[in-house]
Order: sequence, then C-alpha cells, then structure tokens
Amino acid sequence: MRDRFGRQINYLRISVTDKCNLRCVYCMPVEGLPWIPKEELLTDDEIVAVVGAFARLGVERLRITGGEPTVRPGLVDLVRRLRAIPGIWDVALSTNGVLLPSMAEDLKRAGINRVNISLDTLREDRFERIARRPVRFYRQILEGIAVAEAVGFDPLKINVVVMRGINDDEIPDLAEITRERAWHVRFIEVMPVGANLDLAEAFISSDEMLERVRSLGETEPVPGPIGNGPARYYRFPGAPGTLGVITPLTHNYCMRCNRVRLLADGQVRTCLFGTHQVDLRAAVRTGEPIEPLILQALAEKPERHYLQPGSDVGSGGLRALSEVGG
Ligand code: SAM
Ligand code: SF4
Repeated sequence: MRDRFGRQINYLRISVTDKCNLRCVYCMPVEGLPWIPKEELLTDDEIVAVVGAFARLGVERLRITGGEPTVRPGLVDLVRRLRAIPGIWDVALSTNGVLLPSMAEDLKRAGINRVNISLDTLREDRFERIARRPVRFYRQILEGIAVAEAVGFDPLKINVVVMRGINDDEIPDLAEITRERAWHVRFIEVMPVGANLDLAEAFISSDEMLERVRSLGETEPVPGPIGNGPARYYRFPGAPGTLGVITPLTHNYCMRCNRVRLLADGQVRTCLFGTHQVDLRAAVRTGEPIEPLILQALAEKPERHYLQPGSDVGSGGLRALSEVGG
C-alpha cells in the first residue's frame, strides 16, 4: 500500500480500548473522558476481520495500544488471533506496565514480540503527581518491567514524556541506565492536545534533552533497535542500551510515516492528528467489503501534521492521545 506521497504503509496501530488505569498528566484528564459506549467498540471478531483486510492490502506489523490495552478483557486471545492472520509477522504492545506482572508471560506466548513501556520517573515519590494513581501501581510497573525482561521481550523500549519542572531533572539518571541495562530509553516531546494545554510551559525540545544527555559523556548516533518508529537513537560507547528522542514538534518526521491507526470504535485514522477518519465499523457489521474504505482513507492521508506548541488547533481538537492510541 502506498499513499499519494509515495509512502509505503505496512504498519497498523490498533487502539483496543479508550480506557486506562492511570491518568498521566500529559494524557488523560483526571476525571477520565466520556468513554466510547460498549456497543460502539469493535468486538474481537470485528477487529480480526478488519486487520485481515489490512493484511491483504500489505500491512505486516501491528502495535496494540490504547488507552491501556491490557485492561481490555480477553486481550491475550485477541493477540493470538491477530498473530495468526496470514501476512502478520510482528505484533508489538504499548503499555503502562501496571498489569504486566500477571500478563507478560501469556502475552509473550500469544505472540507479542516486543513491548514499549511508559515510565516517566524513576522516583516513586513522583509517580502520584505524574500518573495520578496510588504508588502501588508504580511498584507494579517496576515489577512489570522486570517480568517483561525475564520472559524475553526484546528489545525493551522505555517511553519517557519529558516535562520541565516535573521530571526533566531525571534525564541524566534515565540516560545513565542505558550504560547498565539493555533498555532503549526514548525521550518524547509533549504533544499538545486539549486536555494538556496547561502543560505548555513544561515543553522541552529534543535538542535540549540531547544537550543534557551529551553533558554526561560522548554519544554516537546508532540505527536503534528493531521497530517502526520515528525515534532517532544514540548510544554511550559500549553501552548495552540506547537513547532515543521522539520529536513531533521540533523535527517533523511525517515524510517517513509508514502507519495508519484503527481506533477502538472502528474508525481508521491516517494521521495521529487532524480530523480525517473513515468509519469501518458499519461495513464490518453489515459484511460489506472493507478494503475499498481502507484505500479511500489512504488516498486522503495528509502529507503531515501541523501541531503547534501550546495549542490544540494542529491536533484537530483531539482531547487526549488515549483516544487514538498515541
Ligand atoms: N497506555 C499505554 C502507555 O502509556 O504506554 C499506551 C497508550 S499511550 C497513549 C502511548 C504513548 O503515548 C505513551 O508512551 C505515552 O507516554 C504517550 N503519550 C500520551 N500522551 C502524550 C502526549 N500528550 N505527548 C507525548 N506523548 C504522549
Ligand atoms: Fe493511560 Fe497511557 Fe494515557 Fe498514561 S499515557 S493515561 S497510561 S493511556
């Protein structure tokens, strides 16, 4: 599948739920969001049917995301079914890690190859301020990371949304970890959406993040671990892990975009931001062919996003990334 700008699209991110067990300050409002009504959520059968259509059109890799994907009942079975779809050879998971202690092994067996885990702080005393949930969840996340390593998820990527005055002073500690562990720590610029405009002052550019990393010692650019994403990676010489930056605001990478998104209610979104989406749910429920709708969506995939710091205009009025899977 190619779009009108010649970009090859072979990667589908699937948001399997809009719900979450955390309330990260940069993502979801503390009171939650109006959840998608149950009857509007795609069932497992419907997701499998839609992904089958994507696979027939050339999608080979999936990422399961949300909201928090592990809170969807029956996720392990769904993963097993997705992995069995002809043409799909890579299924990754983005998670906050809270439920990994009990689920990691089953997810691995079901066919998840790789996980990205969000960890915005190494300091237990900061967790409640950032995730707005009790600290016992933090302990579960740390255990979840340990279990993920133990069951052999490789590479293990750790996502850190960096916010000035909240966790930016931990850039050195998070970077230093990569000298000891084979973690791929990715520092992410805060993307402005409706629910986090109060964080405008907390924005830090990736250039500033990298400057702070470089003050710790020499780094070299490296290709980075297997994945599909837009991160640029560096490494301290000889370190087992790497450091990445994800730069949606300061260094646009849309020309390398290889992805589309399926939302939990069956909308296909060809860009994380903006308002363009095409409904697949009605077609999958009436048994109409889905491929023409996917191709229609792709034909309208925008060239790039127009995010603006401190404004949700460029995000098309999106309230939270949890609505579209990040
Ligand atoms: N709940 C899972 C998690 O936290 O990893 C998956 C969904 S979450 C929306 C996917 C990724 O988006 C996470 O790494 C999260 O930190 C990131 N994210 C959420 N809101 C963001 C924002 N406004 N700016 C930058 N990254 C954001
Ligand atoms: Fe939940 Fe992930 Fe959003 Fe945090 S970033 S509130 S864990 S969906």
